[in-house]
Amino acid sequence: MGILKIATIGEPVLREIAHPLSQEDLQTPVIQSFIDDLIATMRDAAGAGIAANQVFRPLQICAICVENNPRYPYKPNFPLTVLVNPELEVTDPETFRNFEGCLSVPNLRGEVERYTGVHVRAWDRFGAALSFEVRGLTAGTFQHELDHLGGKLFVDRVADPRTLCTWQAFERYHQASFVERAKALVQKYGQ
Ligand code: ZN
Repeated sequence: MGILKIATIGEPVLREIAHPLSQEDLQTPVIQSFIDDLIATMRDAAGAGIAANQVFRPLQICAICVENNPRYPYKPNFPLTVLVNPELEVTDPETFRNFEGCLSVPNLRGEVERYTGVHVRAWDRFGAALSFEVRGLTAGTFQHELDHLGGKLFVDRVADPRTLCTWQAFERYHQASFVERAKALVQKYGQ
């Protein structure tokens, strides 16, 4: 398994719309080993998720995993999930303000509106159909990763640029109030 180089903001690959995979593509050793590397890279960088564009491969593959994440200590755990050719459908049009960060946007966070409920349809890494709903903060994570596959970054969705801040400024000025909001969401949705 290898750790892949992460593309940072300004790299054109982050603005590409990722290409879908066929079942045949997905079963190849090259793609299976790429998925192993993608997961290893996410874990190495302590990301809550990662999309293939972020490692210079614009393919419709992303991974999400939250296990007591030090970058986002308030995020509820979510088991490792690989999505291939994913699609989201909004199941709850209510939104919440999520303070997001991104492995491709080093040392910057900002406030983004996300839907509180989305239904996810995708293949797993072996091509089996997945269909499930996520709520709250977890729904925010899925929307962030699917944005990557559409060539979007969280900074595109920051409605008020005055919320942009370094991680140090986040901890100093925003963390306490955001954690309160995050806890209320986790309590409400269990995610
Ligand atoms: Zn990201």
